[in-house]
Amino acid sequence: MAVTMENAMLKKCIDAGLRMTSQRETIAMALDQSYDHPDAELLYKRANEIDSTISIATIYRTLGIFERAGLVQKVDVGDGKSHYEIARDQHEHLVDTQNGQIHEFKSEELTALLSEIADKMGFELTSHKLEVYGKKHGDVACRCIQIKVY
Ligand SMILES: [Zn+2]
Repeated sequence: MAVTMENAMLKKCIDAGLRMTSQRETIAMALDQSYDHPDAELLYKRANEIDSTISIATIYRTLGIFERAGLVQKVDVGDGKSHYEIARDQHEHLVDTQNGQIHEFKSEELTALLSEIADKMGFELTSHKLEVYGKKHGDVACRCIQIKVY
């Protein structure tokens, strides 16, 4: 499998010094093409469509390896499943309580506020992670920083 722009995740794995098997490459590619914070089951379905020899155990094991290498992050949205995304810029999640879709946003105001709160508590803000829950009102288009479709 060639390293292409479409598989930036594979490049990250190689740069991180991970030993890449063909199954790991497929899983990296499936992650790279997922913009919806898939859980392990969904990622398994996607990877398995490309390579039917990939088992759910391989998915979990590989996600663990990617996570320990700091390439993948777990996202907990309170549905009892671990969702995954490729580690990247700080952003927050807004979860649609009606369909479970995870939308992403960035807010400088929020970061400033959290920094102020941390400062008042005698801390310097180093990172933050926020999951916001909501119900969409009206028929407004999603204003995600990326398009997320299940
Ligand atoms: Zn995200």
